[in-house]
Amino acid sequence: MTLNAMPNMPPDPLALTSQEFIAAAAKLGKSKHESLGAYRAYHRLGVRTSWMAEDPPATLQHTVDERTMKFLLSVGDDLETESVIIPMPHRGGRFSRTLCISSQVGCAMGCQFCETGQMGLMRSLSVREIVQQLHVARFGVPHPFEDETRAASGGFDIANIVFMGMGEPMDNLAAVLQAIRIFCDMNGPAIGCSRVTVSTVGRTAGIRTLGEFIQEHGLRRVGLAISLNAPNDEIRSSIMPINRSEPMALLRKAMTDFPKRPTSALCVEYVLIPGVNDKLEHADAVCEFLREIRCSLNVIPYNPRRNSPWPAPDDATVDAFVDRAIANGQFTKRRRTKGRTAMAACGQLGNERVRQRKFVSLAIDPPAARE
Ligand code: SF4
Repeated sequence: MTLNAMPNMPPDPLALTSQEFIAAAAKLGKSKHESLGAYRAYHRLGVRTSWMAEDPPATLQHTVDERTMKFLLSVGDDLETESVIIPMPHRGGRFSRTLCISSQVGCAMGCQFCETGQMGLMRSLSVREIVQQLHVARFGVPHPFEDETRAASGGFDIANIVFMGMGEPMDNLAAVLQAIRIFCDMNGPAIGCSRVTVSTVGRTAGIRTLGEFIQEHGLRRVGLAISLNAPNDEIRSSIMPINRSEPMALLRKAMTDFPKRPTSALCVEYVLIPGVNDKLEHADAVCEFLREIRCSLNVIPYNPRRNSPWPAPDDATVDAFVDRAIANGQFTKRRRTKGRTAMAACGQLGNERVRQRKFVSLAIDPPAARE
C-alpha cells in the first residue's frame, strides 16, 4: 500500500497529480476548492499548507561553475541526488533555465565514459524525490546569476526538464512516468510536455512503454533522447555494456516506432571520445544508421570523468566530425560544454565518496527477438 493510498494520510503534492491530490485530500474532509488551491500554491508559490505531507528532509549543497549550478539533495542513508541548472542563452541577452534531473542514485548501466556509471546503482528514486528536484530548483536554491527571470510567484522559472542526470530513467520508469504527469499538470508545475525530455541509453522495452504512455495520457510531445555514442556494435559494446544485450538494430527499430512529433525530432546524443568514435568514417556510419529516422544529432565533446582513460577532444576534431555529419545531410548540432570544472557537465555527475560504497546490481534484460 502506498503512503497516499492509506486512509487519512496527509496528501503529498510531490507524489500526486492534482486530481489524485484532490481525491486524497477529500479523505481528510477537504473540499475540492481548498485542496486545489493548496496544490497550486505549493507548486506555483512554494507555499506548503499545514495538512499536506511534509517536504522530505533535504540537506542542500550547491556548486556553481560560470552560470551552471549543480545541487545535491540528501535522500537518506548517506545518499544524494544530483541536479544541474543550465542557463540557455536566447537573443537579446535573455536566457531560460533547463533543469537536468536524476532518476536514480548512481546507475547500473556502466557506460565507460560516464562518472555516474562508475558508481554502480545505489537505488532508484521515488516520485517525490524526482519531483522535489524541480521544487528545489524553483524555490530552494539561491541562483547566483541574473534574476530578472524570477517569476512573479517568487520562484525561478524552469523552462525545460531533461532526465539526463544520474541514472537510467527506463530502469525506474513507473516513477519517471508519474513524475512527468506531475511536471505537466496544469494545476501544478505546468511545464509544457514538449519541454520534458527523457534520455535513455537505449532500453528498448522502456522506449516502447514511454511511447504508449505519452499517447494514452495526451502527452505526445514529451521528447525522447537516445544516447548512441558509436557508429557500430563493436565500438558501442566496448563503451556501453547495454549494447551487448540490446544491439543497435533493436535500438533502431524502437526509435523508428516511437510516436512522431509534429514539430520536433528525436534527439540522438553522441559523446565524442578521442581515439574511440571520433573518425570521419564514424560520422559517415552514424549518418547511415540514422538515415531513415527524423532526428537531430547532438555531438557532445567528451567531458573527462575522474580517472578517465581519455582526454577531452580538441575543437578541430569536434568541428570536423560535425561538419562531416552535416555534409551527409544529417541535421547536427555541437553541444557547448558547460559546468566542467564543477563536475556538473554531461557524464560527470556522481559523488566520489558514494562511489566507494557497495552498489546494487541490476540485471540487464535479455534481448527481444530480432526482426
Ligand atoms: S551515461 Fe546514463 S545510462 Fe550510461 S552510466 Fe551514465 S547515467 Fe547511466
